[in-house]
Amino acid sequence: MSRQSFIVIGAGVVGASIAFRLAQGGAKVTVIEAGDIGGGTSSTSFAWVNAHDKSPRVYHDLNVAGMGAHRRLAEELDGDWYHESGCLEWREAGDQEAHVTNVERLQGWGYKARWISADQALSLAPFIDAGTIGEAPVAFFPEEGWVDTASYVRGLLAAASALGTTVVTRTRVSGVEWAGKKVVGVRTETGTSYRADTVVNCMGRWADDPVLPEELRVPMNPSYGLLVYVQAPGIHLNRVLFTPRCHIRPDTSGRLLICKNDAIHALGPNSIVGPAMPEANALIQEASHVIPALTSMKASEVKLGIRAIPADGLPAVGPTSEIDGYYISVMHSGVTLAPVIGSMAAAELLEGRPDEALAPFRPDRLVPRQNRSIHAQ
Ligand SMILES: Cc1cc2nc3c(=O)[nH]c(=O)nc-3n(C[C@H](O)[C@H](O)[C@H](O)COP(=O)(O)OP(=O)(O)OC[C@H]3O[C@@H](n4cnc5c(N)ncnc54)[C@H](O)[C@@H]3O)c2cc1C
Repeated sequence: MSRQSFIVIGAGVVGASIAFRLAQGGAKVTVIEAGDIGGGTSSTSFAWVNAHDKSPRVYHDLNVAGMGAHRRLAEELDGDWYHESGCLEWREAGDQEAHVTNVERLQGWGYKARWISADQALSLAPFIDAGTIGEAPVAFFPEEGWVDTASYVRGLLAAASALGTTVVTRTRVSGVEWAGKKVVGVRTETGTSYRADTVVNCMGRWADDPVLPEELRVPMNPSYGLLVYVQAPGIHLNRVLFTPRCHIRPDTSGRLLICKNDAIHALGPNSIVGPAMPEANALIQEASHVIPALTSMKASEVKLGIRAIPADGLPAVGPTSEIDGYYISVMHSGVTLAPVIGSMAAAELLEGRPDEALAPFRPDRLVPRQNRSIHAQ
């Protein structure tokens, strides 16, 4: 049998993971990336590895599988990107009942979660202000962590390249090539055509880009998150903090990363984002209620992240039923999920056997059959 060939569009955490596992399985792989590797949403992520509040159960289980896969993959490739730091969570008074319910549900599912005292919290994260916790119950999730996504993508693509994968950067796919109802390759803006047995869409939040014909797009429902990086010498935070004020975690080179999901409704894709913006300082001041030493610190970098959320919130992974030669892998929580999706998708693609664990996440649910206009030449 001849060697199977694949084009992976997109070199984020998801594309890099699938490319690596395909190459490891003996396939000929070409990754085509519009920008630089890892420069999409993967570079604007809080990158917290968790299955903390994910439902339904099948989605929780997939995220738990992602956590285990991170640990094993970092060992396999001797990678320095995965930090299994644990996470501390407490909530404001009105939300504590829901917090207890969630932690009990997670414990019932066998997820590693335990209640700790405020003193234990302070010994796990000495720079936090005891007053900010007050009487709130604190949960500790020892198996959660965070990923240095730049290092992850570099590491996986280096491993894939060592197995013969070609990585083409700064080259935007501008269309697909067909033979009847089968996708047989892609065209790029530079006018080059690439051919392969299967094209894998790992385009993240651009998965609904009109460069793809409608029947190949994934309907998306993106949302925004502000990420503020602070050079914080002397604050040695080793855990992810999930607090009512904001989320805080360590980052590379002694920085801290602060993120808040719901404070930035006025920001959109055209907002001018930078360290001087008032929202950045406002977020640092929120974080200083948790870590008082932050109060006089300034943002060193600010990013606006746009989440790659398929229309119903769940991952879209798999082929589409009426089109050959095409496979989709697009999701939020992609940092947590990337290593397990990489293995599962590559196994499906190489062996042609559907993985039952992916059944709830098939892209067909998002594109009703009757609405499809199937391309045929
Ligand atoms: C603010 C924020 C916080 C988040 N926090 C977390 C978290 O704590 N934990 C977690 O697990 N996840 C989190 N996520 C989600 C996670 O970051 C994403 O799900 C993940 O990064 C998606 O990776 P990806 O490889 O699918 O997409 P991307 O990293 O965006 O990669 C897709 C790539 O495709 C390329 N591309 C697009 N169109 C084309 C084209 N036509 N031709 C060639 N290349 C193309 C892009 O340039 C891009 O590099 C967060 C996201 C945001 C925005």
